[in-house]
Amino acid sequence: MVAVPEVRSTTSLPESSRQFWDVLIIGAGPSGALAARQLAIEGARVLLVDRANFPRRKVCGCCLNGAALRILHEVGLGHIERAAGSAVVNHFRMGSSGRQVTLPIHTGIAVSREFLDSMLVQAAVDSGADFLDGVLATIESTEAASISVRLKSSSPIGIPQELSAHARWVLIAGGLGCRAFADPARDERAAAKGSRIGAGTILSESVSDYPPGTIHMACHRSGYVGLVRLHDQRLDIAAALDAAEVRDAGGIGPLVERIIQSAGFTQPATLNGAHWTGTARLTQSRSSVYGDRYFVIGDAAGYVEPFTGEGMAWALASGRAVAPIVASALRSEAEHGDDFLSNYGQDWNQVRSRLLHKRARACRRLSRLLRYPALVNLGVRALAWNPALSKPFVGSLNLPYNTSEGSGGRR
Ligand SMILES: Cc1cc2nc3c(=O)[nH]c(=O)nc-3n(C[C@H](O)[C@H](O)[C@H](O)COP(=O)(O)OP(=O)(O)OC[C@H]3O[C@@H](n4cnc5c(N)ncnc54)[C@H](O)[C@@H]3O)c2cc1C
Repeated sequence: MVAVPEVRSTTSLPESSRQFWDVLIIGAGPSGALAARQLAIEGARVLLVDRANFPRRKVCGCCLNGAALRILHEVGLGHIERAAGSAVVNHFRMGSSGRQVTLPIHTGIAVSREFLDSMLVQAAVDSGADFLDGVLATIESTEAASISVRLKSSSPIGIPQELSAHARWVLIAGGLGCRAFADPARDERAAAKGSRIGAGTILSESVSDYPPGTIHMACHRSGYVGLVRLHDQRLDIAAALDAAEVRDAGGIGPLVERIIQSAGFTQPATLNGAHWTGTARLTQSRSSVYGDRYFVIGDAAGYVEPFTGEGMAWALASGRAVAPIVASALRSEAEHGDDFLSNYGQDWNQVRSRLLHKRARACRRLSRLLRYPALVNLGVRALAWNPALSKPFVGSLNLPYNTSEGSGGRR
């Protein structure tokens, strides 16, 4: 069993409100944690805040694809893959209306989010960032030379503390449905019409039908359910479901059972009593990914349904790409004052769009096709007849996120 690193807060709430930070990062998922680490390496004083107590779970299929692993290796965090041990995933089994096909895919790994996110936060701390968990962060106001963030401890024990911290820049990395502003209108995101909701659970049982190394995906007109054996042998289940179908089925659990059954997969014995966590609507976009002294990164900036399992690669790519832009803005302000600050927001907008736009569009198209069971069944038959048909698509998911796509920033 691979142990989850015990990552601890490196500062206290009163101490963080006394300091003046170069960058305060809201959310310690892959985008926020990697940005914190990269900025700390650049010499910035970074505070990484998460409302959850770490290690924390997150609804996720937990598969890091080849492109995500490449990013980790490129930034010098290849030890995370090695520490995960025997977590390799290299096959994809898809089932629909009782038909199934198994395809080879590029090598990825299946790791719990408690493990992965703690490893990333630890890497940020090791590089000099400060970390504060169990603290909800809310942007209050922007002044001429700083941005003010309300920090509220969310610990169930003791008297809740609430203080303000100040930073030059804030990165909003709070994930899907994140609320980062005191004024809710500023968090406005548009959910795509008919967008599905996410749901997830983790089971401890071993079901021989779900061996390690394969992502098992059950597809149905009302959604899809992914099952994968994690590095610690637990079975992760993550789903994208039509909200109306969840209501009609009497809850997430019954609908997931129906989808697994209709794909012809084995029902895990303990699925019936599983504790499910749901998410906000999955396909969302934000009208702007920057503003007065803040940038938005990762899922908080926009997300598309998870069928292709790229979300963490997008989050890591954006965490890595935003860091040189923020570092450059900090240097420019130190040398020339705040004359050019608005340019950096535009830089981030362009870099993010170059990095992710095409990939998100392809993912959106695929998720639309998945709404048509006849097409899905046809696809399963065609792939069973000739598995090589999947090659161009599988290859496109693993294309590297070139540094030139995302290394913007004025020098
Ligand atoms: C059903 C499902 C299956 C998926 N499967 C996969 C998969 O197999 N592979 C893959 O690569 N991706 C998958 N994804 C996508 C992946 O989970 C996300 O894209 C990824 O976690 C985004 O990272 P992030 O850093 O942007 O945000 P998150 O990982 O969501 O982290 C955000 C953090 O911010 C914190 N936070 C939020 N608001 C505040 C606040 N105001 N103050 C302080 N902290 C705050 C939260 O506690 C959280 O820890 C899946 C998603 C879903 C829903």
